[in-house]
Amino acid sequence: MQDAKREIRSLLPEELEAELVRLGEPVYRAGQVFSWLGKGIRSFDEMTDLPAALRDKLRESFTLAAPVRLRKQVSAQDGTVKYLWGLADGNAVECVVMRYSYGNTVCISSQVGCRQGCVFCASTGLGFVRNLSAGEMLAEVLFSQADSGAKLSGVVLMGIGEPLENYDEVLRFLRLVNHPRGMNIGMRHISLSTCGLVPAMERLAEERLQLTLSVSLHAPDDETRQKLMPIARRYDMDTLMNACSAYFRRTERRISFEYALIRGVNDSPRQAELLAGLMRRTHGHVNLIPLNRVEKSPLVPGDTRKFAELLSAKGVNVTVRRRLGADIEAACGQLRRKEAT
Ligand code: SAH
Repeated sequence: MQDAKREIRSLLPEELEAELVRLGEPVYRAGQVFSWLGKGIRSFDEMTDLPAALRDKLRESFTLAAPVRLRKQVSAQDGTVKYLWGLADGNAVECVVMRYSYGNTVCISSQVGCRQGCVFCASTGLGFVRNLSAGEMLAEVLFSQADSGAKLSGVVLMGIGEPLENYDEVLRFLRLVNHPRGMNIGMRHISLSTCGLVPAMERLAEERLQLTLSVSLHAPDDETRQKLMPIARRYDMDTLMNACSAYFRRTERRISFEYALIRGVNDSPRQAELLAGLMRRTHGHVNLIPLNRVEKSPLVPGDTRKFAELLSAKGVNVTVRRRLGADIEAACGQLRRKEAT
């Protein structure tokens, strides 16, 4: 039986070298191939400075992740672009290109679907299918850049899926997208958001990356958080906060805590006070998210300005996230696995 072909965009430069040597090629070819893989090419034939015989060998030995654009929507409000990319196995994921004054950022998915089950999030709806490979995540970035024409200077892992549940491929993706001979996106321009998988956060701390870790908190007390996020039943607030403090000590990078404000659920003055206490404990800051509408959800947005003022008055560093792409359902928590229609 023939081995399944490896997907070449997932390989790090040193792994490519080993593969090319195995194919009887000189090591320097790996550098050429790697820089092609960091461009939005769709076939090995586009690697025009390689001999045809080598291109044939590559085609026989590897697959090349090149997603198909199934849908593209452009926000009339702010120019945000949402894509539905079709993957080689027929699955599809959404990703979003956001334009800021300081540069363009892409928000990518890390899994096909999500199994975290947060009650306020549209990604919960259609269930979990599989992890994305590093090459598939890189392809989201490359093809979104090529298609939108927006030169990308930042990446956020805040689309569909829980990145820390797909730890190895996500780490590999970070190395690929950060590589000087690839897209060369600086770690300080990368954010990774987690619902709070404590063991994976402990592992990530040891990598000592300069990226920004965001933690989806959404409540300052166990009772409320457990109602909103099933993961809170596995790791209680104290355990999560200990992991956050340890992360800060180890990496010297402040954590950004995401807090989607829901009226009557997590927006009381008492909760602001508790949240302020957690920020003092972890040296983190709060990124308030206006709750975005999700079909069939009874939850209503809270008053972000008022809550931000309560937090500021207690000395908390707080920002309110802009709602980019809300008119095309491209805002936080609105991405889904596939069109439900
Ligand atoms: N699984 C990861 C990555 C998702 S990032 C995580 O949980 O962090 C997407 C962010 O949008 C998360 O902070 C998520 O909690 C938040 N979010 C989900 N649904 C939302 C909604 N309806 N309104 C506002 N933010 C939402």
